[in-house]
Amino acid sequence: MRSLDPFSLQGRLAIVTGASRGIGAAIATGLAGAGARVVGFSRSGTAPAGVEPISCDLSDDTAVCRVFEELAKHHDRLDVLVNAAGISLPASDAASELDRFRQTIATDLTGVYATILAAYPLLRKAGSGSIINVTSINSVRGFPGNPGYVAAKAGLAGLTRALAADFAADGIRVNALAPGYVATAMTAKSFADPAMHEERRRHTMLGRWGDPDDMIGAAIFLASSASTYMTGQELFVDGGWTTKGLAVSTGEKP
Ligand code: NAP
Repeated sequence: MRSLDPFSLQGRLAIVTGASRGIGAAIATGLAGAGARVVGFSRSGTAPAGVEPISCDLSDDTAVCRVFEELAKHHDRLDVLVNAAGISLPASDAASELDRFRQTIATDLTGVYATILAAYPLLRKAGSGSIINVTSINSVRGFPGNPGYVAAKAGLAGLTRALAADFAADGIRVNALAPGYVATAMTAKSFADPAMHEERRRHTMLGRWGDPDDMIGAAIFLASSASTYMTGQELFVDGGWTTKGLAVSTGEKP
């Protein structure tokens, strides 16, 4: 019998990409805590305790297809797919600005779509699947220094809405989870730099950086039947970043 708790993921199979560290690892652990059996993808093939690791480079669509062919031999359905894998390349790591743009789109946008397409047959069999794309406050705001990342996240928000329409008839919901600044390997440089750290902290309403664990509640909500009438939405988990008005709080009350 299905649990009466709408947030329970008991008996569900979930895949979380980017599960080796950071936000993906936290979400994978959180979904497992809510009762799901969780498989975690990453290039390194590592995953937190309680998550089954699979090594796969999601920018290689042949490799992605191969992994899902293998999974389909052992599973007849997939209930939840969280696309958390992503890169934000420093300019120095690419041969040129265009190369950096292409690499970023290949992982952060095309790689997500390749994963969704490969997962679709198993998600359809579940009849009530949930796809969660991890976007960013970059999907709706202009940030300097990394146009490929901003474009990929804005594109991923658009892909979320497009696929929500295309997959609705299959009972598959597609939503996005948009984190603000979260302390992970991806943001280690700005977290460690006192001026950058403070600028990002002050830009939130809640006055702090996010922790990967701050993403867990929203992920469980979007994965579970608690959000059963919700699709095509982008849920911002950003400490109030995107809705903040005045840049500096004076402590005034209404
Ligand atoms: P992170 O600590 O750098 O983790 C990135 C994860 O993606 C790792 O597990 C990495 O594993 C995996 N990955 C990267 N490229 C991959 C590929 N080609 N194939 C398979 N796995 C790949 O970053 P994070 O901060 O947790 O970011 C997670 C997601 O949240 C990303 O989509 C990011 O854009 C988004 N986000 C982050 C922040 C933030 O402030 N941190 C804010 C908004 C959105 P391997 O290296 O083992 O492959």
